[in-house]
Order: sequence, then C-alpha cells, then structure tokens
Amino acid sequence: MTEASSQVDQSKPSIARVYDYLLGGKDNYEADRVVGDKFKNDLPGSVAIAHANRQNLIRAVREIALAGIDQFIDIGSGLPTADNVHQVAQRHVPDARVVYIDSDPIVLAHGRALLADNPSTRVIQADVRDPRSIREHTETTSLIDFERPVAVIHSAVLHHINDDEGPGSIVRYWQEQVPPGSYFFVSHFRSGDNPETREAEAVLQSTFGRGRWRTDEEIQALFDGLEILEPGIVPSPLWRPGTAVAPAGVGSAEHELTVWERLIVGGLARKP
Ligand code: SAM
Repeated sequence: MTEASSQVDQSKPSIARVYDYLLGGKDNYEADRVVGDKFKNDLPGSVAIAHANRQNLIRAVREIALAGIDQFIDIGSGLPTADNVHQVAQRHVPDARVVYIDSDPIVLAHGRALLADNPSTRVIQADVRDPRSIREHTETTSLIDFERPVAVIHSAVLHHINDDEGPGSIVRYWQEQVPPGSYFFVSHFRSGDNPETREAEAVLQSTFGRGRWRTDEEIQALFDGLEILEPGIVPSPLWRPGTAVAPAGVGSAEHELTVWERLIVGGLARKP
C-alpha cells in the first residue's frame, strides 16, 4: 500500500469521490454513495451540475490549448475520469504538460497509478489554500516554466473555500506568479437566490462543513485584474457550447437550462 492510499479513509465521504460518483465513476466507497444518493434524491440537479461543469472544463482546456498554451496547473483536479486535462490538451498540443493538485489522498494514489509512465504529468497532494506550497513544489518547478504563459485551473474547487480563507487572494497569488498571456479558468457554484441554492448549500455544509454558493458579483471579483474572455462568466452549459466535445444532451446547451444548470458558472480569463 502506498503512503497516499493508506491515508484514504473509506468510512467518511470525500468531495472527490462523491463527485466521481455523480459523474458515474467507479472510484468511490459506500460512504460516498450514501451521500451521492442523498444529493441525487434531495438535489435532483446535482448530476446535471457535475456533468455541466466537467464538460465546461473540457471545452475550456481545448480553447486554451488551441491558443497555444502548453502548460497547465489544475488545482482541485479530482479523481482521474474519462477526459482528463492532459488528454484534452495533448489532443491539440501533443507535448502539453500538466500538474494535477488535490488535497484528497485518493487523487494522489489513483493519479500516480494512472500517470506513472507519463513524463508530461505530475500529481501533487496539496491544499489550494496554500498556493505557495504548490508553486514551490519540486514536481511543479520541474515541469512548469514560469517564464512562459501557463494555464491555471480552479474548476469547481473555490466554492469549497470559505470566505475567511480568501478565495480571491488565492487567484491573485497565481496571477503574480505567471507572465502576461497566461490563462485562468474558474468554475464555481453560483447563487441563484432561490430555494435550490439554499437547499444545496445546506446539504453541502452539513456533509462537508464547507460549500459556498457565491453571487455573480462575488465570482466576478475572483477574476479581478484579468481580462475575461467571451462569453464572460456564464452558466457552464452556455460557455462556448459550439465547441462541445460531448454528445448532445447532458452538459450541453441543446436543451432548456434547468434552474440547477444555472447554479454552476464558468469563466476563462487572460492575464493582460
Ligand atoms: N476540478 C475537477 C472538475 O472540475 O471536474 C474536480 C472538481 S471536484 C467537485 C472538487 C475537487 O476539489 C475534489 O477533488 C476535492 O478533493 C478538491 N478539493 C476540495 N478542497 C480542496 C483543497 N482545500 N485543496 C485542494 N483540493 C481541494
């Protein structure tokens, strides 16, 4: 057993494994499925939110790679799934390099197993709230050239950071570390000021002790200092749907958006 896998507590639900369950993955345990089923029953849109978010990330990575960026830092990356950031990026930029970061030891264990012989990727166990430890990690500095533009991804992770933990200052830290022309993708739970938002926030708080649905203004503030690219910060299914790589239906904009799908937004920005 590796050090990372020995840290995995199967008796407590984890954000990464519940998300994996909602996406239809197999890397989850009974405790995760109990919570995942509660989400599915009490919050019927949670599966659609997970898929809409993941497809938004895939489309954004494709766009970033097409812009010529060949290095990615994916913070709060989650468990390996069908289309990971390095696979999407390398479809367009074959030698794209990706550092995956997650605080959950299961991500490290599974990621390292999957990527063991991939010289273009690294997996680090670290906390998004301690960006310096990620920036200075030897796995990061060995793969990422901070003299050249980098894509920094915070996909569906900053809403797990409470206000007093400074989500805005985390994004600002990374802005200072990368040169002009670098890209930032953020997706985030968006408050609709409706019963669905309040219920979802309550379920997340009671399960994980964290989970913040932020207003449009609060999410916009995470991009301060950056040039937000078209179409702006919008519900994930509406973010450049024409570039969809997923089959039509879930996670695409080819159907009327439900209130749930409006509760997750994505935005891509560039450091001027
Ligand atoms: N980024 C992936 C995506 O969008 O498909 C996965 C998103 S998943 C909802 C959130 C991930 O953030 C989980 O894997 C969880 O372990 C990770 N996470 C939560 N809090 C974190 C923290 N403080 N530091 C690092 N990762 C964290």
